[in-house]
Amino acid sequence: MSEGTTISASWRDKLKGAGARILTGIFGKSAPEPETAEPKWKQLEIVKWPAPILKQEAKPVTTFGDQNMELIQRMVETMKRTGACGLAAPQVGVGRRLILCASGKGGAVPMANPVIIAKFDSDPLGDGKKPVLEEGCMSFPGHKVRIKRYHAICVQFNDPFTGELLGLESSGAPARTIQHEIDHLDGITILDHALPNQRKRIDKDMRAKLERQEEKKARRARVAG
Ligand SMILES: [Zn+2]
Repeated sequence: MSEGTTISASWRDKLKGAGARILTGIFGKSAPEPETAEPKWKQLEIVKWPAPILKQEAKPVTTFGDQNMELIQRMVETMKRTGACGLAAPQVGVGRRLILCASGKGGAVPMANPVIIAKFDSDPLGDGKKPVLEEGCMSFPGHKVRIKRYHAICVQFNDPFTGELLGLESSGAPARTIQHEIDHLDGITILDHALPNQRKRIDKDMRAKLERQEEKKARRARVAG
């Protein structure tokens, strides 16, 4: 038995113990695609640092069903238009534990209350090093931070439409995205992963951008008034 199989067997037992149905991959479950080429759902505005919601812990999703459809579809549309590979609800101003991870076909996997139940430092067939890569974030446009993430994870979550408990195993880029988005649900951003000097620089730049934006708004309001 290979190392990979051993790892999978143990997390599968854990998920089954919790009563979860296991998906075979990140592409197993997607939000329904809009039927027409014409975008049916309006894009959402991305909340930027230093908005307080980005520092807050999000609340669990407790209602499942079609009432989550509009938010999820609008989040999918926002991801598509911005080319992002993931999005967390607090980034669109909703303090709920809901994330999306791109599924590669223009769709996305929506996950409510995602919890990482197992994590693996490295690819069992790789060199054993926890990968460090540069990561950007739509809430910090123009900035990138080198972040060490687990190579592979097992995540348990609820289907936002049915509430069904699901589980999946992910590695590489989607695993990195899921870790990044779950961070957002805990009020953790790329800033928390940056070195002190870089952290200060990014924070200062984002606050200056916000100030310039507010000055612009105030000027427009004066002209309108
Ligand atoms: Zn982000």
